[in-house]
Parts: sequence; C-alpha cells; structure tokens
Amino acid sequence: MQSKQAIEQIVDQVWSRALGKIVKGKVVAPLRTRLGDDIDMIVPQAAAAGLMSANPAFAKVLYAAAYATAKRNAYIVTRQVGMPPDFFWEFELWTQQRAFETMQKVTARIFGAIMTHQKEGTLELVATEVEHLRFETAFTDCVECSGLTTSNTICFFHAGLFAGILGSLLDKDLDAVELECAAQGGKVCRFKIGKPDDREIKIPLEERLGHIALQVDYSKRVEEGLKQQTIRGIGNLVDVGYYQLILSSVFLAHAEVLSRAFMATGEEMGRALVPLIPQMLQGDAASAISAFYHQLRYTDIRINEQDQGIEVQVEEAPEMMGPLEQATPIPFLCGGLQALLSSLKQKPLRFQSAQRDGNTLRLRFGP
Ligand SMILES: [Zn+2]
Repeated sequence: MQSKQAIEQIVDQVWSRALGKIVKGKVVAPLRTRLGDDIDMIVPQAAAAGLMSANPAFAKVLYAAAYATAKRNAYIVTRQVGMPPDFFWEFELWTQQRAFETMQKVTARIFGAIMTHQKEGTLELVATEVEHLRFETAFTDCVECSGLTTSNTICFFHAGLFAGILGSLLDKDLDAVELECAAQGGKVCRFKIGKPDDREIKIPLEERLGHIALQVDYSKRVEEGLKQQTIRGIGNLVDVGYYQLILSSVFLAHAEVLSRAFMATGEEMGRALVPLIPQMLQGDAASAISAFYHQLRYTDIRINEQDQGIEVQVEEAPEMMGPLEQATPIPFLCGGLQALLSSLKQKPLRFQSAQRDGNTLRLRFGP
C-alpha cells in the first residue's frame, strides 16, 4: 500500500512528463523503446468507461479524482511556466472581454496544448460569464467517449479536469457538468464550469451522476481497431501518459475501493476479445492473444504454458513504465489476461502472483 504522499508524487510525475513534452527545447525520452508512447484509446476507455458501466457510482470517483489531480497540478504547471500566482486576482471585476480573452489564451496555450499533444482531444474555451463565474468549453475528438454510443453524458474524467484547471487558475472550488456528449451522437462534448452552488451547474451535474447506463461494445471497437478504421479525427491513438494519469490519479488513489472493480473491468474487456481470437490466428491462440496486445500497443507479452497454469511475461505495459515503475497498478491488465487465458485453457484460471524481474513483469495464473 502506497502512502497518499507517495501516490501524489507519482501522479505529479505523470503531469510533469506531459508538460515537459510541450516545453520548447525540452526533450522527453519515450517511455517505451519498442511500443512508443502511443496506445490505442480503447485501453484507457475500457478502464474508465468500464468502471462506470460496472458501477455507476464510480462516475463520482472518476470525477473527483480528476478534479483533485487537476487542481493541484494546474497550480504546479502554471508556476512552472512562469505565471504569477495572483495572475487572475480580482477576476470577478475584470471586463467580460478581458476575462474571456485571457482565460481563453491561458487554457489554450497551456492545458489545451498538453491535451492536444497527448491526443486527448481539442480543447477550446467558448464562453465566459464573469459575473456568475461560469465558463463553457468545447472538447472535440474526446478520448473518453469517441467511438462509444450512449444516451448519457459520460466524460466525467474530463469534466473533473476542466473544473480543476479553471478552479486552480482562479483559486476557487468549481464544478463542471457535461451538457452534451459526443457519445450521444453530436460532434463535440460541451461542458459548463462554475461555482458548486450555481443551480445551472449543480442541478444538471447531480442529474447526470444519477443516470448512467453504459454498455461498452469492446468487440466492435477492437474489431474497428484491427481493421484500422479511424474512429475520430485525430486517430485512435492516445499518449500513454493519459492512461497513466487514470491509473495513478483514479486507481492508485483509491486502490482499496477499486481493486476488484478494476480487475472485473479488465476481465470484461478480455472476454469481449475472446470471439475475435479466430480472426487473429496466425499460429496458435496464445500468439493471437499476444498479437492483440501488441496491435493495441498496450504491451508485449509472452505466454508460457506450464503444468499447473500459465506464466505471462509482460514488457512495456504502461502499468510498469516510468512514473508507475514502483507502484505497478496491474489489476486491469491482470483481469484482461485472466479472461483470455481462461478461454485459452478452457478452464477458469485466476491471477496468482506478480514478480518484477528487470524489465519483465512475470504474472502467474493458475486454477
Ligand atoms: Zn463526452
């Protein structure tokens, strides 16, 4: 079990890597030498959306975790780029035009730039109401929901990020609600950010947190991915830093509550991949499973069948790289493998143990 401080340090390192990539003249070495820094967005999507579909109450956990990490790190980031802490002092007295233009510039140049670079989506501040301290953002090609279809708004992680970022700039506690989500059929996700007691924020936010019915069709998404169909304008890949942010700020920070759910979420994704194995067959089913993970640029694995069970050698999984090297949050990864290996052996196998061996993580599964 990591201490709260140790976890915050890991989360801060993930942010600092993301910031480093947009700083001119700074070279950030890739986390992974073979797979590179991009991963198919289905992986973080399956982790975040899967968590909500397993239990709608987790939407609140995602939202609150994103808010907390953004609020703390937006403060650090703005100091690092040289913005004085009182930059937005007496913002409520600014003229409407000055407030909008300045806030738009800051969000675009720092936070929009990070999100664009990470391929999370394209962020734009579209409205500001100084008097009520309300803001609206539009987020195009959103990594959280692109390719998913639901009747609800589901981008709670980014809602938390936007509220945390603006809240940090203004040194206030803010909330954000997603009014329209691309998963509902539109082109962009639209968010309104404002004071927690503002009825225009509070009422729709409570309503949305209470009505999540989400089913993720992983098979369809992975099949699209395997056929190299492009799901969003900026492609299907996202920086592993985004996935690591979810793993660290959501999972590590709430490991006790989420451990089982994260594993079940991984299992659900694994089970959805099972019917696709025949399509991938070049050699045996084990190499088809490795091919999946490689094609999603998730990890390189080698499956060794043993008398009693299976040992999987994992390399370059985001769970074990860079800032996460010491913490190694693996339940989601283990859940997926557990489901696929069970189907391979045609009997239920359970994750048993993990052991780090240099650059290799050895996971054991048995009856
Ligand atoms: Zn959305």
